[in-house]
Formats: sequence, structure tokens, C-alpha cells
Amino acid sequence: MKIGLIDVDGHNYPNLALMKLSAWHKKRGDEVKWYEPLFDGFPKEPLDRVYESKVFTFTPDFEFPINAKEVIRGGTGYFYPDGGEELPDEIEHLSPDYSLYGITKTAYGFLTRGCPRGCDFCIVKHKEGTKSRKVANLHEFWNGQKSIVLMDPNILACNQHPDLLKQLIESGAKVDFNQGIDARLLTPKNISLLKEVNIKEIHFAWDDPKDEEIIIPKLKLFKTETDIREREAIVYVLVNFNSTFEEDLHRVYTIRDLGMTPYIMIFDKDKTKSTDPVRRLQSWVNNKRIWFKNQNMKFEEFDRRIRSDNR
Ligand code: SF4
Repeated sequence: MKIGLIDVDGHNYPNLALMKLSAWHKKRGDEVKWYEPLFDGFPKEPLDRVYESKVFTFTPDFEFPINAKEVIRGGTGYFYPDGGEELPDEIEHLSPDYSLYGITKTAYGFLTRGCPRGCDFCIVKHKEGTKSRKVANLHEFWNGQKSIVLMDPNILACNQHPDLLKQLIESGAKVDFNQGIDARLLTPKNISLLKEVNIKEIHFAWDDPKDEEIIIPKLKLFKTETDIREREAIVYVLVNFNSTFEEDLHRVYTIRDLGMTPYIMIFDKDKTKSTDPVRRLQSWVNNKRIWFKNQNMKFEEFDRRIRSDNR
């Protein structure tokens, strides 16, 4: 079969589903290529099948005609919020074809899927369900690469996480938990395992101000047990969702006092104006050159200075 692949979002970030589809078709002896009529010319004969994958709803659709007997679309960009049909098991559990993106040093994948939190702003419950379950061993998608990017939504919520963390430790590879770690589920036992994983920096989130009593003792425990440097422990702060500006500031200052680094995430940012307080807060907190220069500064002082500079 002649197979065409379209990564509608562009080629900036590898699309796991397309890499697995490519691996499966190549294993069958099919010819697999990117479908790029702009570079390769419009195919004279129809391809047997073209896969179009789109992760983000805001990405504009593929703009060229597709000459194929069959076109299969997938991804949350097309089927929001559940992502449409899942890949069949025999494809899902194949090692991705990293060569599609010319990737040689990094492995990408999921060890677990699902998250029990069901946060209102998050699509994981629709896509992967509300139970965190193991879906793979590390060797399914890692074969010695120096880095691993894990896309698990909440690895600590899976009851097999100690074994999975041990697999990551044994790999010796640099690990990026790119969806962060759920601070509420930290325990002395999993912290001692996380300490052994080769991590450059770790991300937590304090999305809901009401979680203070659960999150803060856990973050303190992590800080004490690991003595992690401030710049290496990032805590995302969701704003513009269910919090007041005072609560946003309180979270920012509390994280700073803990010796960790806050990072502002604005919900529905494109609906805010650059002059909104949350946008001004973001330009202060997320600009690490300014942030680390004066660790005693309050937001009001930063804001006053910016406004007087702009006059
Ligand atoms: S904890 Fe994270 S992954 Fe889980 S539902 Fe909330 S935002 Fe999504």
C-alpha cells in the first residue's frame, strides 16, 4: 500500500499516533511518506490511504486537496474532546517510528493513561478516562535513547507507579515528565524514587487555591527530602479560571516562599487583554530574568515600575 501522513499541526512536535501508524505500515512492507503536495507535487495516482492527524483545535485545517482512496482523520483537533477512535492495540503498542521526524536521541510515550482528578478545564477524562492505569513498560518505546519525554497525565495516580519509576531509574536517561507530577500524591516513598530518576527540572501544578492545605505540605516535604534548587522545581499556577486575583498573588508568593518557582498559566488567554491584571502578573512571574533579580519584590511594585516606564 502507498500511505500518506499529514501532521496538520506542523512538524514542530512529534505526533505519536502518526509515528506508530508509520511503524505499523512499514512493518507490513507498505510505502510510507509525508503527504506534502506543495513539495512533492500533487500525486498523479491516488494513494491507498492518507492519515490526517490534528492535536489542537485552533490549528487551521490542511488546506490542499488530498488524492487518496481513503482518508482517515484522528486527534483531539478533529474530535474534541475525546480524540475520536483509539489506535488498535497492535498499533498502539508498537515502538514509534522516530525516523519520521528524524529523532534519534529522545523517546516519546506513555507508561500510564487516565487521571482520577477530572479537572473541569482538562480533556484527559474524556480522552483517557478517570482511572490511571499502566499501559506500557518503558521498553515498548525506549531503546537506549539519552532522553525520555513522558506524556503521562498523572503517573503517581497509577498503583504501579513505583515499578514504572524504577524502570525510568534503571534507564539512566534524562526524563521529562511533560505533563507534570501531581504534588498531592507525593509520599516519602515515591519522593525517594523520584530523586533517583535523572530529571533536569520537575513540574507541579497548584491550579485550585482551595487545594492549599493538601498541596503545600506535600511541596514542603518534596523540598526537604530532595533539597531541590528553586529553578528546578516549577509550580504552575492556573489563573483566570476559578480564582480571584488575590488568590493568584497568594499562590505566587507562597510558592516563592517555599523555595520553588511559580509559572503562570492563563486559562483562555486569547480572551484576555494585555492590560488585564493576570496578563501583567504573567509578564512579571514568567520572565525569569526579572523574577530572579529581586526575590523580595511584590507585584504592585513591579506593576508601578512598568506603568511609569510606559508613560
Ligand atoms: S490533574 Fe492534571 S491531568 Fe488530571 S485532570 Fe487535572 S489537569 Fe488533567
